[in-house]
Amino acid sequence: MKSYQLVAFGAALEPNEKANPQPSGTEVLLRTRAAGVCHSDLHLCEGGYDLGGGKVLSLTDRGVRLPRTLGHETVGEVVAVGPDATGVAVGDIRLIYPWIGCGSCANCTAGSENLCLGAPANLGVHRDGGYADHILAPHPRYLLDLKGIEPTAAAPLACSGLTTYSALRKVMDVARRQPILLIGAGGLGLMCLALLKALGGKGAVVVDLDPAKREAALQAGALAVIDGAAPDAAAQINQALGTPLLAGIDFVGNPATAALGFDLLAKGGKMVIVGLFGGASPWSLPLFPMKALTVQGSYVGNLQELHELVDLVSTLPQTPLPIDARPLDQANQALDDLASGRVVGRAVLVP
Ligand code: NAD
Ligand code: ZN
Repeated sequence: MKSYQLVAFGAALEPNEKANPQPSGTEVLLRTRAAGVCHSDLHLCEGGYDLGGGKVLSLTDRGVRLPRTLGHETVGEVVAVGPDATGVAVGDIRLIYPWIGCGSCANCTAGSENLCLGAPANLGVHRDGGYADHILAPHPRYLLDLKGIEPTAAAPLACSGLTTYSALRKVMDVARRQPILLIGAGGLGLMCLALLKALGGKGAVVVDLDPAKREAALQAGALAVIDGAAPDAAAQINQALGTPLLAGIDFVGNPATAALGFDLLAKGGKMVIVGLFGGASPWSLPLFPMKALTVQGSYVGNLQELHELVDLVSTLPQTPLPIDARPLDQANQALDDLASGRVVGRAVLVP
C-alpha cells in the first residue's frame, strides 16, 4: 500500500510503500475512496498547539508517535475482514469514525470515545489514517453506511461535519429562535452553515478575514459576512444580527477571535470554541457571573452523533460544502494550499 506519512514534525509528508496489512481479529481493511484534508492536520504537522504565553502543548507528550499516516476524514471500500469482524462485507463502502477511545474509561463507557480519558487511538493521529490507498479500521462498529452520499462528500463528515454538528447541538436552542455568530468560514465554518440550515436554524452572521471565504459563506447562505479585521467589526456584527448575541461558534480560536466573541456576547450568552489556531485569552472574570456567560469547548463528536449526522445529510438536496477533490499524491500540495488559505471548502484526496 502507498501512504503519505509525517516522519518529522515541521517537515513535508513522505511517500511510503509497504505490503497491505492483513486484518486480524475484528479489524477491517478498506481501500480508500476519499480522504479529507483538515486544518488539524496542519497542527499535527507543526507538532503541537500554541497555548499562549510561550507555552506549547506537544503532540509527542500527547502520545503521537512518528511516522504517522495522517487523515481522519476517510471513506473506504471494504477489501478484507478479520475473522471476528461481523456485519460488514467485502465491497461495502463505509465512512470511518476515527475518534476511537480506550473503551473502558468513564467517558468511553458513556458513549463519548472522542473524550477518552485513557489512551485515545484516533485514526490519523495515534493510528494510521486515510492519506493512503488502504486503511485499517479496528472494528466494524466504526464503519457507517453512506446512505447514498457520494464518497468525497461523505468523507468530511467524520471531522468537519461531526465537529460542527456536535458544536451546533450545544447552541441549537438559541439558533432555532434567532441568528447566531460563526467565526471562520473554512472547511468547518462552511459545513456549519449548511448543517445549521438543515437543523432548522435562523441562520448566521459569518466572520472571516479572507474575502474569498466570505464570498463562499454568502453563497452557502450566510445572513451577512463581516471582515474580522475591520476596526468596527463588532458594530457591524451587531447591526447584521439585529438582536443581542446569545450564541456563537468560534472556528478559529485565537486571541483576536476569542476577544471578539466574548465582547459581543449578551447576558446569558454562550460561545463554543472549536478552532485550535492557538494562544491564550485574558477574559475579565467578573463578566462571567455578571453576564451569566458560558464559554464551552467542543471536540469532534461521538459515534452516535456521526450516525445522526449521516442520516441528516443523506436527506439534503446537495453536498453540504464545496469539495476540492485532488489525487492522493498531491497530499503535500493540499496541505500547503490549506495553510495559505487557497482551499475553499474542503480538499479531499482521492487515491
Ligand atoms: P480552514 O483552514 O479550512 O478554515 C479556517 C478559516 O478561518 C479560514 O477561512 C480563515 O480565513 C479563517 N480565519 C483565520 N484567522 C481568522 C481570524 N482571526 N478571524 C476570522 N477568520 C479567520 O480550517 P478548518 O479545517 O475549518 O479548521 C478550523 C480550526 O478548527 C482549526 O484550528 C482546526 O484544527 C480546528 N478543528 C477543531 C476541531 C475540534 O474538534 N475542536 C475539529 C476539527 C478542526
Ligand atoms: Zn479534523
